[in-house]
Amino acid sequence: MIIDYRSDTVTKPSPGMLEAMMKARVGDDVFSEDPSINELEQMTATMFGMEAALFCPSGTMTNQIAIKCHTQPGDEVVCDESSHVYQYEGGGIAFNSGASVKLLYGNFGRVTAEQIKAAIQPDDVHRAQSRLVALENTSNRGGGSCYDFEEIKKIQALCKEKKLALHLDGARLWNALIAKKETPKQYGEAFDSISVCLSKSLGCPVGSLLLGKNEFIKKARRIRKVFGGGMRQAGFMAAAGIYALQNNIDRLEEDHSHARQIAESIAVKKFVKLVLPVETNIIIFELQDTLTAPALVASLKEHNILGYAISPNRVRLVLHLDINKEMVRKTIEAFNQL
Ligand SMILES: *Cc1c(COP(=O)(O)O)cnc(C)c1O
Repeated sequence: MIIDYRSDTVTKPSPGMLEAMMKARVGDDVFSEDPSINELEQMTATMFGMEAALFCPSGTMTNQIAIKCHTQPGDEVVCDESSHVYQYEGGGIAFNSGASVKLLYGNFGRVTAEQIKAAIQPDDVHRAQSRLVALENTSNRGGGSCYDFEEIKKIQALCKEKKLALHLDGARLWNALIAKKETPKQYGEAFDSISVCLSKSLGCPVGSLLLGKNEFIKKARRIRKVFGGGMRQAGFMAAAGIYALQNNIDRLEEDHSHARQIAESIAVKKFVKLVLPVETNIIIFELQDTLTAPALVASLKEHNILGYAISPNRVRLVLHLDINKEMVRKTIEAFNQL
């Protein structure tokens, strides 16, 4: 048995999800005629109290479409240095939107209204025009850290005052909602656009949604086509999404609890320098100089445990719905032996 913690993207559809997919009614979504996609988009928009939603193949695409919609070439996007839009989207902000980036150095991926305020460019011909603030919740490289909603409200007020758009990369927003006991509607009120993923902690094979106002989503639909993301009978995937929203959100607390249990067994190891605070389903730990991350990943593999070296001295483990209690027990046992 392989216990795979490399990412929460490695999950396989459950029997219930597969059954929902097999039964899906489908149509051509480029003509907006796929009933399952229309239902998923409507359902998600309602959930967040937002006007409309757009189903896309990936979270990279929903983020990149949002950035393209909000900016003109030469505008500046303000985000944390560790954010997915900057680190892991192939330079897409420059490639797709011709926009510049202002990096902030936050607290485990979280930035403050104060930091953003200081980063906004003055109205000066020498400067790029600050246009968009992109937050990430939970923060991937921040170890699954969650925002304090009060800070988000401050950021929202600042963006309104300075006429900046506010986007949320909520690939794992579901985990934050469960961990902080927040509601999707709170987020729908705070952001101009939100990207959420179905393929991460919710266990779908494919799919992300972009949420926003009707006009925004209309523009986003056009850009999705230009980016090559117009899909046809993708309702099979949307049916998986509907199933996941109905069945796989509340159980996330289980992943968080598993993450805390494993993190405790890691924290006491001599070869571990520090474990980032575990707030949701991600464990990131840093090693002492005597051991490299690839070397530790290799020894975990001997125990049939897969992890991911996110840097030369940091390892990431991600909990998800294909990791059960028994696997967690085996993992803790393996760490005890290392
Ligand atoms: C995974 C992830 C995405 C989107 O990734 P895709 O693989 O393109 O779906 C976006 N943001 C964050 C924070 C992520 O972890």
